[in-house]
Amino acid sequence: MSLSPYSQYRQQQLEALLEITRIFASSPDLSTLLRTILGYAAKIVNADFGYIALTTSTGTLRITTGYRLPTPVFEVLSPYLAQKRPVEEFWAEQELRRQLSLVNQVVNTSLEQVVALPLVLEDEDVVGGIFLFRAGAMEFTPGDRMLLRDFADQAAVAVRNARQIEQLRTEKARVEAIIANNPNGIMILDPQLRVEIINRALSRLLGVSEEDVIGKPCAQVLHLENVSGEHLCFVEGSPPPPTEIVYGEGDIVLPGHKRVTVGVSYSPLFGSDGSLVNVIVTFVDITRYREAEELKSTFISVISHELKTPVSLIKGYAGTLARTDVVHDPDFVRESAQIIVEEADRLTELIDNLLDASRIQAGALSLEMQPLDLAALARKVVDRFATQDQRHQFVLNVPDDLPLVMADERRLRQVFDNLLSNAIKYSPDGGQITISAHVEDDVVVVSVQDEGVGIPPEDHEAIFESFYRVDSSLRRSTQGAGLGLFLVRAIIRAMGGDVWVESEPGQGATFIFTLPIAAMNQR
Ligand code: ADP
Repeated sequence: MSLSPYSQYRQQQLEALLEITRIFASSPDLSTLLRTILGYAAKIVNADFGYIALTTSTGTLRITTGYRLPTPVFEVLSPYLAQKRPVEEFWAEQELRRQLSLVNQVVNTSLEQVVALPLVLEDEDVVGGIFLFRAGAMEFTPGDRMLLRDFADQAAVAVRNARQIEQLRTEKARVEAIIANNPNGIMILDPQLRVEIINRALSRLLGVSEEDVIGKPCAQVLHLENVSGEHLCFVEGSPPPPTEIVYGEGDIVLPGHKRVTVGVSYSPLFGSDGSLVNVIVTFVDITRYREAEELKSTFISVISHELKTPVSLIKGYAGTLARTDVVHDPDFVRESAQIIVEEADRLTELIDNLLDASRIQAGALSLEMQPLDLAALARKVVDRFATQDQRHQFVLNVPDDLPLVMADERRLRQVFDNLLSNAIKYSPDGGQITISAHVEDDVVVVSVQDEGVGIPPEDHEAIFESFYRVDSSLRRSTQGAGLGLFLVRAIIRAMGGDVWVESEPGQGATFIFTLPIAAMNQR
């Protein structure tokens, strides 16, 4: 039985829509889908050629898909569609006639019919239109238009899907870039707490490569010491899935015993059905914060300890002297007053050092640099120390023709005072203290050497930090706030030199510093 032309037409139409649905399901790219939709639409309504134009980000129309579209037509329509005007206007009867006349200027066959249908999304956003041209007098029927409506709807959905996919891709790329380039360590775990993603900052921090850790339980990847707070990666057995953000801290131990203290937060990510999808683990380096906290408490304990002794001595002696019920022996009065003066001096020195340290931290240490006779200054300082201290022998080994250095005199004296008083303080059994200087290239190298208790190599750097004191029995018996060498290094560096120590425990210590030679000062 042969089908009536109308039934044939319906049949064709159904087959086309089915085919489009089938292609849709195989999720092709947008251009393949639009080409298929346009091809079927054109065939069913018997169009000679046609195109789909989509709205651009600037609001104009651009031809993205053509059906047998002759190049001259494409060329004449492109600038016409690129006009800045509301896209709806392009569907108006009068504009369609204008398109026809433009097209007829460049094609041989005289086209008489054009049909256009906008591609409209559910939210009434117009994303483009289908335009079909036909020769001959036969007009597009309302049936044709209805049919094209179906194709236009399909095309609109395809455009929406493609846009959503594009949006998702951009979103994904953005999230990936944020994770990859984040200076903080980031790790994404699956619900079984195995590593799915690790970013560059974290693999660098942990000293592992991405391939080594992907798929491994996070407890095997992360090794922390001094752990505090909550850590999902360190729960015995299989931990219960987290229900909220948990936070813990700990130390990552790097090669060479260096430590980085990290704050780790574990945030669960749930799917729409409430199941755990991922755990996002972020690492923040809080080493400096921890150090600052420790420094603060050290500061308080050191300063209160250092203040207590002189203050209680001053109070004790002054209290005794103030008693009216006792007649004091003049020698006792003199000695007591002397102790009060010395202890007050110590307080002043401590306060001065603290002020200097805070100036240095604020970057406000001002210097009066001038060409200076270092040999003469060293001689003066050594003479002063030698008259006060008979237990040590002071040796000055400085050539008379030492060139002038660029330095601040008051600050350089402070450096010598600190180094010499340390040499005395940390040589409780006496011995020789040698101050030497010589020229090396464009600097004068000065050393202060003692025969005291010495300093273990692991402390050679740390002793130049503020409030740092080497842990030893001598430390408990000597006074000091651990500020002297911090000031020495800051002053020497501010004057353009450097300072370091060479020492072994029990072998004495040699503090060496350099200062730039003042220009044109050959004496
Ligand atoms: P302070 O002497 O007030 O403790 P410093 O900053 O001057 O502070 O010195 C820091 C630490 O370095 C001292 O506590 C001491 O342990 C060590 N030190 C400094 N100079 C010497 C030295 N000449 N010999 C041995 N140890 C030293």
